[in-house]
Amino acid sequence: MSYKEPAPISHDKDPLESMMKRFHVAAEYLNLDEDVYNVLKSSVKKIIVSLPISMDDGSIKVFEGYRVIHSNILGPSKGGLRYDENVDLNEVTALAAWMTWKCAVVDIPYGGAKGGVKCNPQEMSQSELERLTRAYTQAMHDVFGPDKDIPAPDMGTGPDQMAWLMDEYSRARGTTVNAVVTGKPIILGGSVGRLEATGRGVMVSTLAALTKIKINPFNSTVAIQGFGNVGSWAALLLKERGCKIVAISDVSGGYFNKEGIDVGKAITHKNENDGLLENYDGGKKISNEDLLTLNVDVLIPAALENTITEKNADKIKAKLIVEGANGPTSHEADPILEKKGVIAVPDILANAGGVIVSYFEWVQNRLGFKWTKNRVYRRSDSIIKQAFNNVFAISKKYNISLRTAAYIAAIDKVSRTYRYRDGSFTFQKNDKDS
Ligand code: NAD
Repeated sequence: MSYKEPAPISHDKDPLESMMKRFHVAAEYLNLDEDVYNVLKSSVKKIIVSLPISMDDGSIKVFEGYRVIHSNILGPSKGGLRYDENVDLNEVTALAAWMTWKCAVVDIPYGGAKGGVKCNPQEMSQSELERLTRAYTQAMHDVFGPDKDIPAPDMGTGPDQMAWLMDEYSRARGTTVNAVVTGKPIILGGSVGRLEATGRGVMVSTLAALTKIKINPFNSTVAIQGFGNVGSWAALLLKERGCKIVAISDVSGGYFNKEGIDVGKAITHKNENDGLLENYDGGKKISNEDLLTLNVDVLIPAALENTITEKNADKIKAKLIVEGANGPTSHEADPILEKKGVIAVPDILANAGGVIVSYFEWVQNRLGFKWTKNRVYRRSDSIIKQAFNNVFAISKKYNISLRTAAYIAAIDKVSRTYRYRDGSFTFQKNDKDS
């Protein structure tokens, strides 16, 4: 294959370079044509807008907003909207591609996208945030659409922003279009089961991986970094299925209890303490760094990117890492973990529960019908299990990590679909796509 390797990593924390490295490794296994490689590494569209917003003090502030559509080969593009001071085009571009692979690996009919506005939502009033979200929606009016590009919440945005976005888009169309965005409040067409969806997917992929390495959940120990939406739901659901959660942590520090953390009590403490575990009395205080290197069966990073790097990978004692967060392992840490025999269930598979239930929200909106929680759970569990088994089989076939296998599954799916659409593949009876 003659395509050029991506440029060397300039620094640890560039998500686009990290993603491209992994894409490249998988493309080599697939012996991907250079033409298709070039299509898949490029974004379809990158939009930058300036959003002048009237602030509460009467001044006008101009915010920069982005939307990157990486791919629409599998279907309309899907991806969150991030409000954060550090958002830039590079980050949004990486996250958009990440969404393409995530949707493809779990086999849902979406391409990948991501949006962002460079702002500090903590410093803005609710009405400033509303004006910003409406202005962003107006600017992206021709980009968004239930058959084109479907945003969702991400860091700094939630159901309120999604409700405003849906309303602004619907006003412009002159009709209610709730399928234009997911992560809405349930009353506006949000799905039951969305809140716990990502943590639930982490639980399902953890149990699937434990089965493969022949560890009984009832004899397993788990440490979880991050006790927000993903970490706390994963903790609760894994505990319900017999795992012993021996350590949890958040930005305020960690807690260890070898008899097992009382997860329900920790959640109550957090809810009564401004969302923090600080001063939780159900375990010995440890640091976040200590938590990562505990002697446990399963480590679930569910907080930030780049928590497991070449600096600490060698000290990891867990047999299994299940990536609740996006990008918690730097690509330099991958070979170190592999050499130690640590199995990592990659983010694009382990935390895909959220986008799966977002897809269900869109399906329900288009059907004009609401599913029960049981139906949402049953169908999302089954999609994650199937995707896990597929990725596991690829990893065995090539004797490679689950991460590379997941990228192979995703890139294979998108590239084959592309080949059918551009006419260079034709349908054959015995083809694996029949
Ligand atoms: P959240 O804001 O609800 O929780 C984040 C948690 O991480 C909090 O407990 C916070 O205290 C903790 N944290 C922050 N900085 C930390 C630090 N330096 N050390 C230790 N803990 C720290 O966020 P979330 O929705 O749970 O998302 C967590 C991760 O999962 C992110 O990487 C996110 O992109 C990813 N993710 C979330 C979803 C979802 O549906 N919520 C879906 C896919 C991926």
